Amino acid sequence: MTRQIIVGNWKMNGTSRDSQALVEALLAGLPATVPDIVTCPPFTQLALLADKLKGSPIALGAQDCHKDVSGAHTGDISPAMLTDLGVSYVILGHSERRQEHGELDETVREKAVAATKAGLTPIVCIGETEDQRESGEHFDTLGWQIKGSLPDNFSGILAYEPIWAIGTGRAATEDEIAETMKFLREELVRQFGEAGKTVRILYGGSVNAKNAASILSIADVAGALVGGASLNAEAFLSIIGAAS
Ligand code: PEP
Repeated sequence: MTRQIIVGNWKMNGTSRDSQALVEALLAGLPATVPDIVTCPPFTQLALLADKLKGSPIALGAQDCHKDVSGAHTGDISPAMLTDLGVSYVILGHSERRQEHGELDETVREKAVAATKAGLTPIVCIGETEDQRESGEHFDTLGWQIKGSLPDNFSGILAYEPIWAIGTGRAATEDEIAETMKFLREELVRQFGEAGKTVRILYGGSVNAKNAASILSIADVAGALVGGASLNAEAFLSIIGAAS
């Protein structure tokens, strides 16, 4: 069985001092056996943390990247700039970027292609709104997002993050997660054939120290994408401890 993967998305939080303290607490508290662990600080903390995490079991991820290698894109960061710093994962298409930066499935797919080409592992996020779930359109929505956001021959990680569960303290129920995981796997295989069988699928949305063990034991859940709780060393270590 492949190891589960626990990804911490710090979003727009953390000064250098906060980041160092958090990472030091994580490194000091890691159990002897660990799942794959990725921490995704803001861009400004990547160089600092690359140094701190060198040789540790915690890999470094970014929260976004551009689709181009270089050029006239003020304020953007290219995949090559990330690998240059020792970053190995990148979150793409997070619902906050889709909402606040107007990112479309097409944009996310182009970024995933560029990230893969540069040697990064893309963690592509998809998820339905509360309205879409309540009106029963969630599976259609997720199916379209997979079709639009994942490149052919996708070899990265898919993160299922129901938008209504992100930062709300209201995680999806075990039944909802199990049913959606089953749908996502079938859809991946329908759209990508054999390759769809091996894509790792994470759950994200209000994962915390209390609910992590039950969420991580649901069939086909390959790990968790954790927002708020990843900013607290004790909570994040408990989630890491709940993974296999
Ligand atoms: C996220 O932002 O990806 C996320 C899952 O946040 P939270 O864990 O805070 O719901």
